[in-house]
Amino acid sequence: MAKHTTGKQNKYSLATRSIHAGESRKKYADAITTPIVQTATFTFSGSSDIEEYTKKGKEHFEYGRYGNPTATIAERRLADLEGAQDCVVFSSGMSAITTTILSLVKSGDHIVITDDSYKKTLEFCRSYLQRFGIGATIVSFDDYEAIDRAIQPNTRFIFSESPTNPYLNIFDLVKLVAIAKKHKVLTLIDSTFSTPVNQRPLEFGIDLVLQSCTKYLAGHNDILAGAVLGSSALIDKIRALHKSMGGVIDPHCCYLLLRGMKTFPIRVERQNETALRIALFLEGHPAVKRVYYPFLESHRHYAIAKEQMTGGGGVVTFEIKGTLETSKRFLDALKLCYIGPSLGGVETLITHPALVSYYDYPRAERLKLGITDTLFRLAVGIEDADDLIADLRQGLEKSSARKKRPLRR
Ligand SMILES: *Cc1c(COP(=O)(O)O)cnc(C)c1O
Repeated sequence: MAKHTTGKQNKYSLATRSIHAGESRKKYADAITTPIVQTATFTFSGSSDIEEYTKKGKEHFEYGRYGNPTATIAERRLADLEGAQDCVVFSSGMSAITTTILSLVKSGDHIVITDDSYKKTLEFCRSYLQRFGIGATIVSFDDYEAIDRAIQPNTRFIFSESPTNPYLNIFDLVKLVAIAKKHKVLTLIDSTFSTPVNQRPLEFGIDLVLQSCTKYLAGHNDILAGAVLGSSALIDKIRALHKSMGGVIDPHCCYLLLRGMKTFPIRVERQNETALRIALFLEGHPAVKRVYYPFLESHRHYAIAKEQMTGGGGVVTFEIKGTLETSKRFLDALKLCYIGPSLGGVETLITHPALVSYYDYPRAERLKLGITDTLFRLAVGIEDADDLIADLRQGLEKSSARKKRPLRR
């Protein structure tokens, strides 16, 4: 595959590249949109055509699991935006993460992962890798010295995430790269919450960036997709395993990803703005106990966030005053925000981790993880900020006011 210019060298801005990068100006039937090459296999016109491909390296697709032109365009566009040499797209973010991890380790190896990583990534490292004799040390997110100490001679990489779920902790990429360089291990960052609009980890010297494109990049809560981005040498290895693992993105799904990407910078900019406004509104509301947003001065990682990110992202986490019952009343009072997991889409979603992702945890365990009875995660969409604030305000008023009514006759 042709090598691409990195974002830094590119003369066009991110907004322009998210529409045009990876695309040829002359397309099938002179259509303006990317063709959906809905095929499982590709044909050769004859033996010389085969040999041009097998012996002379002519670009030719062979079979859907090994590559598809629609997917190639998405890979080029994503690589361009992230400033990567190359990219592989997958059928989901988790497919990208697991295939990437497996391509970098063998039995007897060891990895380091921070404890604040995506739940399923942690589960994969903790439970599944162990079955294959690969050790994983889970270290506290904030303890850079512990990360340094956790590295063994057989450690292959450090995996982290920034910002994280649900507290939006920010991992210091400069510190991470320094530790990794000292020990000559690779660094992997799940950058799903920030996207290339808000943070570009490769520019800090991170080796591989992972994206759940399901979230902001596709942006419409209608598809699952994932990607890994980095140097050609690393991506070649991952692509080779991808051909065996087979978590291939469907061409039509890939078209939806490409379409979503055209508007992704303007969506994220809007989400950054609205999320900050909502965070400030919540911080000033008497029914709210605490707000977590990286671009609020009250956030514990505000300084690092400001340094390594250009926007705070579209997720706002907050705790209201009251009990689990207050939380239920708040959820039930909302009229605009949908109740549901995920983030990054055009519709605003609110989730209550204690009732959803952690419903099966004993309360004490859940509290130890910081998942309190009144904690909410709001994934801001692109609706009007005033409408969203009005919905949250009426929800807060209803949930806190009802407490004052006498319950006993
Ligand atoms: C959603 C998500 C994933 C998993 O992506 P899928 O596309 O759902 O497989 C991984 N990491 C983070 C941070 C996510 O938010």
